[in-house]
Amino acid sequence: MEKQITIIVPCFNEEEVIEIFYKEITKYFVDSYKFNILFVDDGSKDNTLAIIKQLANQDNRIKYLSFSRNFGKEAALLAGFEGALKLKSDAVIIIDVDLQDPPSLILEMIKYYEEGYLHIYAKHRTRAGEPKLKTFFAKSFYKVYAFLTKEKNLAQGARDFSLMDRKVVEAFVAIKDEKRFTKGISQWIGFKKKCIEFDYVPRVAGETKWSLKKLFKYAMLGIKQFSHHYTWITRLGIFAASVFVLVDVIIRIINQNISFYHIGLNVLLLLLFIILHFIMKLIYDVRDQALNRPQYILQDGNIDE
Ligand code: UDP
Ligand code: MG
Repeated sequence: MEKQITIIVPCFNEEEVIEIFYKEITKYFVDSYKFNILFVDDGSKDNTLAIIKQLANQDNRIKYLSFSRNFGKEAALLAGFEGALKLKSDAVIIIDVDLQDPPSLILEMIKYYEEGYLHIYAKHRTRAGEPKLKTFFAKSFYKVYAFLTKEKNLAQGARDFSLMDRKVVEAFVAIKDEKRFTKGISQWIGFKKKCIEFDYVPRVAGETKWSLKKLFKYAMLGIKQFSHHYTWITRLGIFAASVFVLVDVIIRIINQNISFYHIGLNVLLLLLFIILHFIMKLIYDVRDQALNRPQYILQDGNIDE
């Protein structure tokens, strides 16, 4: 039977681009698959939903979900995944509506899907064309993230733009992180992945919905959710306090003014940093328990559920 691919499109105040997007994406709907477009209106205040509904009236391949308010792109993607599973899709493609993710690439994604890759994602070949400040923050983020997490492979500049097999979508949905950092989840769940590259494309119309502040908050979320050895901060504290105490004691011995009171203060200072270190470790254990991620994710096997 013909496989079904659902194109998940998060939209927030995108009245200017939806119709352009629709015309463009449908050019690449090859006959060998059954395509759906699932628009997720993320609480738009403009005519986004009205335009989507109008398109849905003309074309029954168009499905939509609409949020009661703006919940953010991550929530829109999750709703898209859950919707696609309900539609019994064999695979999904996540794509931005502003044509910054070239729809023509879906043909290449499908080619790799047919070769057996389960998760094909796209990233920018270079950052040419992007605002300089954004490039600087992005590059710094990937460095810090790689340092603070066990994941060294978070692809530089990877977009959400991707094709995922149903198994990958199910894994995404199984991750119940309340605040979702899709880039990190994507790496965490594993699966046979393929990266394809393309050059930066500016928005076809409208404006970005991501301020630098929002991007920064998102970056911090990634670090909070996925870093594993950030106790280096408290380790550094213990080390600095130890050096301080040692030097202080040596100077006092040389000057012969060491007292019980000073020894006590030094011991307390060291103890404080050690306690802080263990509290930090405890907080991360509590975090991991609270996130309650699956212990493993299957890619294959011959035991039916
Ligand atoms: N988007 C969304 N909810 C938001 C912000 C953005 O659904 O709160 C959608 C937006 O409509 C677009 C995609 O996410 O389809 C990427 O947003 P944008 O183009 O503003 O981000 P940029 O490409 O500048 O990173
Ligand atoms: Mg964009």
